[in-house]
Amino acid sequence: MYIDSKLPNVGTTIFTRMSQLAAEKGAINLSQGFPDFDCPDELRERVNFYLRQGLNQYAPMTGAPSLRQAIAGKVQRCYGVLPCAETEITVTSGATEAIFAAISAVVRPGDEVIVFDPAYDSYEPAVELNGGTTVHLQLNSEDFSLPLESLGRAINDRTRMVIINSPHNPSGAVLTQAELDGLEALLAGTDILLLSDEVYEHIYFTGHQHHSVLTRSALAARSFVVSSFGKTLHTTGWKLGYCVAPAELSKELRKVHQYLTFSSVHPMQCAVADYLQAQPEHYLQLPAFYEAKRDLFCSLMKQSRFTFTETAGTYFQLMDYSAIDNQRDDVEFADWLTEQGVAAIPVSVFYQQPPAQKLIRFCFAKEDNTLEKAAEILCKI
Ligand code: PMP
Ligand code: GLN
Repeated sequence: MYIDSKLPNVGTTIFTRMSQLAAEKGAINLSQGFPDFDCPDELRERVNFYLRQGLNQYAPMTGAPSLRQAIAGKVQRCYGVLPCAETEITVTSGATEAIFAAISAVVRPGDEVIVFDPAYDSYEPAVELNGGTTVHLQLNSEDFSLPLESLGRAINDRTRMVIINSPHNPSGAVLTQAELDGLEALLAGTDILLLSDEVYEHIYFTGHQHHSVLTRSALAARSFVVSSFGKTLHTTGWKLGYCVAPAELSKELRKVHQYLTFSSVHPMQCAVADYLQAQPEHYLQLPAFYEAKRDLFCSLMKQSRFTFTETAGTYFQLMDYSAIDNQRDDVEFADWLTEQGVAAIPVSVFYQQPPAQKLIRFCFAKEDNTLEKAAEILCKI
């Protein structure tokens, strides 16, 4: 039977492909972004507790009340604003679901959605499935900052949404207040919505600060702000995230969420709620926790032939391999590197128009000895 694909250009994601290749070749997997260490014991114990309590049926559609309260408290503590747990916070099955639901709730055929390359891979398929057109702008190539002039030129009557991501995957760049000022000025007086992907909100390093869109009322009033407990609690496998948005936007998002998944995994929601209340230090100390890993990895890699600027946020480090290999493109280089014993992500896959730079992305959310072993191999290359 002939299937007229709705996503003809979509294949298996680079994350799946590189993780599979790493397993096949027995390589150290610094490709797909996930920790090789476990989440806190206390968090696992709370999951066990709720499993034994019999909390094994549907959670409320919008999220367990205790978790929505805990998220409201975390937002207030970090950003000084208290969202309404009833009407403005929705728990979702990972940030992926929140992104898909937000886009599906508001994008219609003919609408344009602006993304900045290198862009996370889940935005464009969601726009396309809803009949929208993705408009790709490139982040400034020197520092991955927002290209405000091109954004000003790209905005038109069909622009429905702009998607930003800070701290940024894969570059690690962190948006500054000045960039957000520029964005705010460009969106003022329009009906354009903003999707702010802040899944790495708690991973930024000395000299940088995460400026959530939630701290800026003019932007927050038009925004879906998305985060993920996968990143914050080292639990990518639980697929638990959330969206904070004004009540009118949350209402629309929930209409999609209730038919996409209806609700998210119940015992985990209650466990995360307890853990966030009992151990706010966990997320408050996450910057220092990951900064030590970044510093270890980067100090070891200084002996290598890769060149790089230390990442400002996220648990990803970009490295330029042009001094090692000027022939292979980044996809070929990442495959070859996996055969040498370390898997990484080629960066061109996040672009519509592949960049001139020869960059690959390493994930340093790993045990110190994993990073040491990987760096030992990479320094011989
Ligand atoms: N956005 C970005 C930028 C990400 O890196 C990820 C992580 N995979 C997601 C969204 C999706 O998060 P989740 O695993 O919670 O669906
Ligand atoms: N966000 C993760 C990364 O960038 C991957 C998530 C996934 O595999 N879908 O590596």
